[in-house]
Amino acid sequence: METLVVDHPLVAHKLTALRDVRTDSPTFRRLADELVTLLAYEATRDVRVTDVTVDTPVAPAHGVRLAKPHPLVVPILRAGLGMLDGMTRLLPTAEVGFLGMIRNESTLQAETYATRLPDDLSGRQCFVVDPMLATGGTLAAAVQFLFDRGAVDVTAICLLAAPEGLAHMDKVFANSGRPIRVVTAALDERLNGNGYIVPGLGDAGDRLYGVV
Ligand code: URA
Repeated sequence: METLVVDHPLVAHKLTALRDVRTDSPTFRRLADELVTLLAYEATRDVRVTDVTVDTPVAPAHGVRLAKPHPLVVPILRAGLGMLDGMTRLLPTAEVGFLGMIRNESTLQAETYATRLPDDLSGRQCFVVDPMLATGGTLAAAVQFLFDRGAVDVTAICLLAAPEGLAHMDKVFANSGRPIRVVTAALDERLNGNGYIVPGLGDAGDRLYGVV
């Protein structure tokens, strides 16, 4: 598995504001949206393209166009929804599939409660968006779900990652033989006893949408 921590002052600036406990939900949503667009720029570096030629007003020009099948963006409900617009702004022709997963707070295991995705993902590049890579249980289950449907490679875009989550992903997919990348704005110190990232930013879903 490849991990990319995006080292850029604008990313660090927006992440710092996101972390701040005084940042309200509307500002948090706007910052998360802006941040994911910056991360998506790096995360799509290997998106597949095909060569095309277009006519400019002056002469033919060689260029590229996103290859088909188009990439699939998969927000993990609920907090991943806060990252969807930022992704599709950069990949407007991508299709979107939804995966509802929740972490059981006593076992810290991921449970799937909703799926709305194509049955056949053969040949698809998938981009999973989930703000917090904490224990890695949810992300590992999501990536496995996509591989089981035939996805060729999966890139996860997370606002924050914990070392424990990356280690879990590494362990689960050590022998998968399929490309997996994690792109994140920061690698934090650790998880606390409740499975929260330290220093983190708290509960991403609650900060985006309020406590429900
Ligand atoms: N999920 C969150 O929203 N925050 C964390 O710190 C860990 C998991």
